[in-house]
Amino acid sequence: MKLRDLGESGLIRRIRDRFKDAPVTLGIGDDAAILDIPPGHSVVYCSDLVAENTHFIRGLHPADSVGYKAVAVNVSDVGAMGGIPMHFLISLAAPGDLDVEWIDGFLNGVERACRQFGVSLVGGDSSSAEIIFVDVSMVGRVRQGGAMLRSGARPGDAIYVTGNLGSSALGLERLKAGDMKHPAVSRHLYPEPRHHAGYAVADRAHAAIDISDGLSTDLNHIVEESKVSARIYRNLLPAAPDAADWQVLHGGEEYELLIVARELPAVVEGVPITRIGEILESSANHQVFLVDGSGESVLRPRGWQHFSNSGQS
Ligand SMILES: [Mg+2]
Repeated sequence: MKLRDLGESGLIRRIRDRFKDAPVTLGIGDDAAILDIPPGHSVVYCSDLVAENTHFIRGLHPADSVGYKAVAVNVSDVGAMGGIPMHFLISLAAPGDLDVEWIDGFLNGVERACRQFGVSLVGGDSSSAEIIFVDVSMVGRVRQGGAMLRSGARPGDAIYVTGNLGSSALGLERLKAGDMKHPAVSRHLYPEPRHHAGYAVADRAHAAIDISDGLSTDLNHIVEESKVSARIYRNLLPAAPDAADWQVLHGGEEYELLIVARELPAVVEGVPITRIGEILESSANHQVFLVDGSGESVLRPRGWQHFSNSGQS
């Protein structure tokens, strides 16, 4: 069956039937959802757009990975603020000749993410379009005044990263090569956001960001927003097995957290945390320096950038 045969009301019924048990005051079915936030918390609110052929390729990425990832990347953003993800909306645009099988696979992935991250779908919208667009908007909560911002890094702070680096870009490369057995492929298709670790260190962290566009690009965001510079060491970076240098330094869609703090433990919420460098007094241009076997050089942002052709991931 094609999406055009199901129709918009059929699509909404299909989604509503699967996601009707959201723990909110009012979920799917009215003009808007209603939810309550526990006292002492602020709302964290973010969204992320996934476009066919830009973020995924229909013949390469399984539909359930597209659904899972659209939710997971928002969980990662909430976690990067030190928040707990709660509820989300999905807006989906797709061609009328799309197989309903793809929609069912997509919803399987959304359901998997709901179970894994303890979040719930509370509404959304749909439309027709020539290619698939998925937009997820997520609401979370953070302790009032306790959010981790990009702008709080201070000279003398240490720079930490969760998990390892390079596995998503490596996974995409292996996926394109048809090497489905490589463990990095599942890291690319089903990333594990570090929101539990983010929430756990929020009290101690001075700044944080999730690595969605690559270490070089996202660390540059921190130094720019904090008006500092930074130095990291190549030999301290927790590279994923088999990952190439550019994948470790510039590969996107990692969804690891980059955290700036005075000191953090080696493991938080079961996630290894590695110290990779330090924050310096600002140089003229708020730069990131990389120390490797050939000395110290400026690490320019060379990760993913939309609307330009310089992206590598
Ligand atoms: Mg982010």
